[in-house]
Amino acid sequence: MFLTNLFRLTKTCLHEGITPDMECGYCPDCGKFIENEWYITRCTCCGVKLKAMNRNGKIVPQYHYCTNCGSHEFSVERVEKIDFININFAVLVKKVIEDKNFCSTTQCWQEKTDVKPRLLVQYL
Ligand SMILES: [Zn+2]
Ligand SMILES: [Zn+2]
Repeated sequence: MFLTNLFRLTKTCLHEGITPDMECGYCPDCGKFIENEWYITRCTCCGVKLKAMNRNGKIVPQYHYCTNCGSHEFSVERVEKIDFININFAVLVKKVIEDKNFCSTTQCWQEKTDVKPRLLVQYL
């Protein structure tokens, strides 16, 4: 009896149709709505950016110790807009959005007619 065989029944899609330059979209291979998310890791001791990588679905720094101060502590930060500086540190996570309405609804319009609509930022 090999329990590991149970996990092989579900084929995991890598959503390769969703390229890193896209923000989000439907995967042409599995039809799921995919959002590209970028993450960097940062040393909690001295604050320098550490190159991030995806190890078994967890975002961790590429090296065990900070090259600047030797600390082992790190934090993970989401990068909203990837740029040419952060792309050297960032790791891409292709997140499956089950409820599409949830996608990118981080902004809403203020419902007052006497003032010009203003973008409100919701802090989750
Ligand atoms: Zn897919
Ligand atoms: Zn450090």
